[in-house]
Amino acid sequence: MTASLRTEIHYGHAQDFGYDGDKGPSHWGEQYNSCTGKHQSPININSLDVKKVNLPPLVFQGFDVSPRETNLTNNGHTVVVTMESEVTPTVSGGPLSGVYEYSQLHFHWGDNDTFGSEDMIDNHRFPMELHVVFFKQEYQNARTALNHPDGLTVLAFFYEISPQDNPMYQEFIELLGNVTGSHLSAPFNTPPSLKDLIASDLLHYYTYDGSLTTPPCSEVVTWIDFKEPILLSHAQVQAFRALENEEGHPLTHNFRPVQPLGDRVVLYNTDEIIKEIDLEKQHPEEPSEGVDTNKLDTGKPEVATKSPKDPNDRKNAAPSMIAARWSALVVALQLLWNVFLCSERY
Ligand SMILES: [Zn+2]
Repeated sequence: MTASLRTEIHYGHAQDFGYDGDKGPSHWGEQYNSCTGKHQSPININSLDVKKVNLPPLVFQGFDVSPRETNLTNNGHTVVVTMESEVTPTVSGGPLSGVYEYSQLHFHWGDNDTFGSEDMIDNHRFPMELHVVFFKQEYQNARTALNHPDGLTVLAFFYEISPQDNPMYQEFIELLGNVTGSHLSAPFNTPPSLKDLIASDLLHYYTYDGSLTTPPCSEVVTWIDFKEPILLSHAQVQAFRALENEEGHPLTHNFRPVQPLGDRVVLYNTDEIIKEIDLEKQHPEEPSEGVDTNKLDTGKPEVATKSPKDPNDRKNAAPSMIAARWSALVVALQLLWNVFLCSERY
């Protein structure tokens, strides 16, 4: 499939916002109603208050393809990567219904390495966060998708600081120096594939329904936050902080504060549940009451298991039938004996 991936960098024409003062996050709601909604992002994820699930596998297509052309753009709020590729990367499965097509990716960071990510895990902020944005294919493009509650999904990855540079980000970091000013753009010599830029463990993730974290804050995003962080050195993260915003000031931070979780439930996808069921299968003599509730979470049909108490199991039923008949005979004989003794007495 040939498709142009040069999609809209700004959603819904939302340009006039910032992260400080009059344009800061606490004022976004004055101009954009959705920013005061009840299902906003980012959130703090309490890892002890999530529902463990084993969802169908996420399916990633075109993630290992090097695009024909990839551009890095400073849009004044963040740095955005857009691609033109023979194969449009898509994601489906997991919590998603339908196929979602790649739109763009961008980053959120902070003034120093102790904060910068948008979602938090157990009140911990990571130094940086990657958002890989996809729109639902049936809505044609990211802008139309904003009108549908299931319009977008964002694959989110956290960063952690490592002593070594990450070689997969080398050209990326070098290019940041070419797009310091707002609205500057630069092409990659060797465009990385999406797989090159993300973590490798794509099984363990948190997922919840939320919003864009920038105006217009549309509540249309299925968030998928992967647990495994990507490693970058301090110098590599520091390079992002040298970018400038529209006023020509250093863009030292661009993360929105966390929003109330409200009535939402965060799911945690893991194979732990499957492992627990496998363990139970290895010890079938142990009581298995606890497993049944977990099986409900797997979304898979229950596997029929045979136990010695199963009345449909003929091999096991035969000896117990014989025993039952013998005990009935004994009871009958005892009754006859009692009748005999009674008749003797009177
Ligand atoms: Zn973002």
